[in-house]
Amino acid sequence: MGHTTRRHLMTVATASAATAAAAAAGAQSEAQPQGGKQDPREKYPKPPFPKQSQPFPGLAGRMTPRPDHGETSYVGSGRLKGRKALITGGDSGMGRAAAIAFAREGADVAINYLPVEEPDAREVVELIRRAGRTAVPIPGDLRSAAFCRSLVEQAVSGLGGLDIVVCNAGHQKSTPSILEISDEDFDWTMKTNIYAPFWIIKAALPHLQPGSAIIGTTSEQAYDPAPDLYDYAQTKAATMNYVKSLAKQLGSKGIRVNGVAPGPIWTPLQISGGASEGKVVTFGATAPLGRPGQPAELAGIYVRLAEEDGSYTTGNIYGAGGGQGQP
Ligand code: NAD
Ligand code: MG
Repeated sequence: MGHTTRRHLMTVATASAATAAAAAAGAQSEAQPQGGKQDPREKYPKPPFPKQSQPFPGLAGRMTPRPDHGETSYVGSGRLKGRKALITGGDSGMGRAAAIAFAREGADVAINYLPVEEPDAREVVELIRRAGRTAVPIPGDLRSAAFCRSLVEQAVSGLGGLDIVVCNAGHQKSTPSILEISDEDFDWTMKTNIYAPFWIIKAALPHLQPGSAIIGTTSEQAYDPAPDLYDYAQTKAATMNYVKSLAKQLGSKGIRVNGVAPGPIWTPLQISGGASEGKVVTFGATAPLGRPGQPAELAGIYVRLAEEDGSYTTGNIYGAGGGQGQP
């Protein structure tokens, strides 16, 4: 099947859920080259972006331009056939891109998100189902240990098992001074970014058979922390660290553990307090590619870390930083 035909079919199959994403996807397809090669600088919108802010946690559906999570572009080829995945923060951003890709690669997918993110989550559920896979939406707040345990149980019963766990949800609040970070703020960031993966992985482990994969979303901030992300950046360093520790611990059980380290990516996290309003306008400008990344540009990394083909990859961090950050 030719590229155009496949692309057309995918577009038709996902038409209604993807309609709202058309702006971002349109920007991509307009720049689509002849011959399958594309200038990465021109592929997606560049700064300056319109000034915008939403209350935490923000909705992808209300961003201008809308992020591209691969709604109209990701084409699967059975790389995760029959797999069962739980993705936290699966309603938007990197989690949504992973959810769409996993489903199109043949996996059933449970997504967790905050109840106020239901409008974004509903689109993802529709996209998973249109890919012919089971979608299990599980709203709830990861700052609760009891909820994290119940999340895993609900995912296992809804999917009929579990073999991919993506701890991707995160909380980021830009604060210029440590003096302005309250104990409650600090605790919020730690609970979401550090405690929740601990609770979720502990609860999931008894269900994970050899061949299973755990993936954490870390950040360029783990290696090169920004001054206004004092609390957030250290959770990302901890994520990078737990990935490496757990990979050593779980290697003998045949379970792989890896991390993804994005650079600046156009997601609700940034426009709902993660970046200052001024930084949103110029977001991604400092990256050598001259623009922020889109979640769709990381989908293949999550697939790679989950799939059978990646069987010797464990304890590794894969970056997508647009030319900045280490690695
Ligand atoms: P996003 O806002 O789309 O996703 C974050 C998700 O976290 C939200 O959708 C929400 O569902 C979830 N979440 C936050 N607090 C929660 C809570 N208490 N309970 C349940 N869910 C909660 O933004 P994103 O940028 O795709 O973020 C995904 C991951 O990527 C995060 O871990 C973030 O730290 C990381 N990251 C983002 C960037 C970037 O530039 N956007 C860069 C590096 C790393
Ligand atoms: Mg969201």
